[in-house]
Amino acid sequence: MQCSCATHKQKRKSGGAAHRPLSVSLMRIPPLVCGKHDHFLRNSTFSFESCRARESHILSFLSLCKSPPQLIQTHAYIIKTGFEQHPFVAAKLLEATGILGDTNHASLIFNNLKQPNVILWNILIKLLSHSSRFQAISYFIAMRRKGFKPDSYTYTSCVQACSRFEELNLGKSLHGQALKSEEIKLDLVLQTALLDMYATCRQLDSARQVFDEMVERDLVSQTALISGYAKWGMMNEAKQLFDEMPERNVVSWTTMIGGYSQSKRPNEALRLFQEMKSVGVQPNEYTMVCVLSACASLGTIDIGKDVHNGLRRAGIQLNAYVGTALIDMYAKCGCIESAIRVFNGLPKEFVFIWNALISGLAIHGLGEDALMAFGDMKRAKVLPDEITFVGVLCACSHSGLVDEGLLCFDIMVNEYGVEPQIEHYGCIIDLLGRAGRLNEAMEMIEKMSVSPNAIIWRAMLSSCRVHGDLTLGKLSLERLLELEPECSGNYVLLSNIYARIGRWEDVDEVRKMMSERGVRKLPGWSSIECEHVVHEFVAGDRSHTMSEEIYVKLIEISKKLKLEGHLANTMTVLHDIEEEEKESSLDYHSERLAIAFGLLKLGLDEPIRVVKNLRVCADCHEWTKLISKIYHKDILVRDRVRFHHFNDGFCSCKDYW
Ligand code: ZN
Ligand code: ZN
Repeated sequence: MQCSCATHKQKRKSGGAAHRPLSVSLMRIPPLVCGKHDHFLRNSTFSFESCRARESHILSFLSLCKSPPQLIQTHAYIIKTGFEQHPFVAAKLLEATGILGDTNHASLIFNNLKQPNVILWNILIKLLSHSSRFQAISYFIAMRRKGFKPDSYTYTSCVQACSRFEELNLGKSLHGQALKSEEIKLDLVLQTALLDMYATCRQLDSARQVFDEMVERDLVSQTALISGYAKWGMMNEAKQLFDEMPERNVVSWTTMIGGYSQSKRPNEALRLFQEMKSVGVQPNEYTMVCVLSACASLGTIDIGKDVHNGLRRAGIQLNAYVGTALIDMYAKCGCIESAIRVFNGLPKEFVFIWNALISGLAIHGLGEDALMAFGDMKRAKVLPDEITFVGVLCACSHSGLVDEGLLCFDIMVNEYGVEPQIEHYGCIIDLLGRAGRLNEAMEMIEKMSVSPNAIIWRAMLSSCRVHGDLTLGKLSLERLLELEPECSGNYVLLSNIYARIGRWEDVDEVRKMMSERGVRKLPGWSSIECEHVVHEFVAGDRSHTMSEEIYVKLIEISKKLKLEGHLANTMTVLHDIEEEEKESSLDYHSERLAIAFGLLKLGLDEPIRVVKNLRVCADCHEWTKLISKIYHKDILVRDRVRFHHFNDGFCSCKDYW
């Protein structure tokens, strides 16, 4: 039986392979992996069917292709049946190749086409735009050379490639060409692509201009501009546009929530999330990740738990991304046990899940557990990356596991070939410094393959404070002040070294230096969550509605502590005033206000969770230990560096922080 379709007629004329009965040619095709295909091939008797039916069979084959080998077999089948040059089949074949991400195969198919039309050019350029802007653009040029006229689809794909690879100049020239060409209509899709390209390349003014020039705008174009503003932290502009939107979908809400979360404005992220829920928009997985990350940075366990419970109630299986965000949230909110439980319920093939667990264990000072998790990870055959090693080294440093840390550093470089970055060096310097091995730390700094930054010198300076090493302390401070002359923390550290050895005149000198240079001490704040509301306190705060009760509580506490024989460790206070005044100003450190508030407001069994922006001072650390004993309270304080879990007069950091 002869086929009468155009391709086959032409093939027969040009003496190409004759149209053989399919059942014979199929015998040479190895069985397909897919059961559906296999069944189809075995049972097909379509040597008697019309060409149109065969074409539709090919198309259904293509739609069923789930892997490159299946695609290659289908491609072979297309060649055998002579449909290779059929424009519609070729288009579907290219698309199927694109879905499987095999762009090399796609170019090969395209290059074999004798008469590609504009649609086929467009499909190929769109496919290539995802993986390589150079290939996409070179086919764009070839297309024009061969006399084809690119249309707005072609331009859209090329502009999207520029956006994906942040090629601003190329994108601009495409914009110029499109404007010059009379045939190109700057439609909604192309304009949105241009807007997105400018926004991605941080040209927000140009993006806005494209937006303002648009005759019609839709949700996608509005969200693209919001996302551009959010990406570069311009949240006020984003919010204004968001407020002006006539309608919003989950993507636009999530873009805003994610923007706030990334711009370190977690309170606003959570407020917007509540608003989103109140207008009945269902959050998706991305929303959850953004919300959980906001909860993690605020340390607000209640809202984080609500999100988790919501997922459970909806019967949603945790995927790796949401799961990782949950681990991170629980760990940063002080619930490391819950973080571990979430981890245990997740598939373990992704490195970032392990990273979240290891860094969670690290900030809790659970060094041995972090090392154990690292061992499990190796056994699970998951390859650690540079972030894993930051976690592992950090864990060793927080737990004082000096030898283990040095060994891990060695394994990282020599076994896994991970080039040490400044973060890794930072951990090692910290590790050696805290353990009092200051000279080894200095040697390490000199040997480093990257030039030391402020983090390195600050770690060094902190170690010098702990161990009272003036010479190295001064040297570190000089380096540090060259790098960041405005940072108050550096001056505070040096002044603490002087204070520790009682050189009050030098403390005075540092203070003078600070005021001469216009540096002000960063105000400390602590926050505590109570019944879904986050309460923030600064040192000496009297603005809280319960301020009076809090101060009464603080007086009660200091009376109790005096009975226990607690004396304030006034050595670390940064000033030269009278002893007595020093002691009273300690009473007002922000975490004390937060803890007193927690004692007043929280139930007997509820732990007190405090988040603080600075490192806990030695005296407040001692004070909190005693509170945990006298009041039988679990107290968790997350400071700038790590967690302190106070219980029955002890802290999980073992006084090593
Ligand atoms: Zn303090
Ligand atoms: Zn501690």
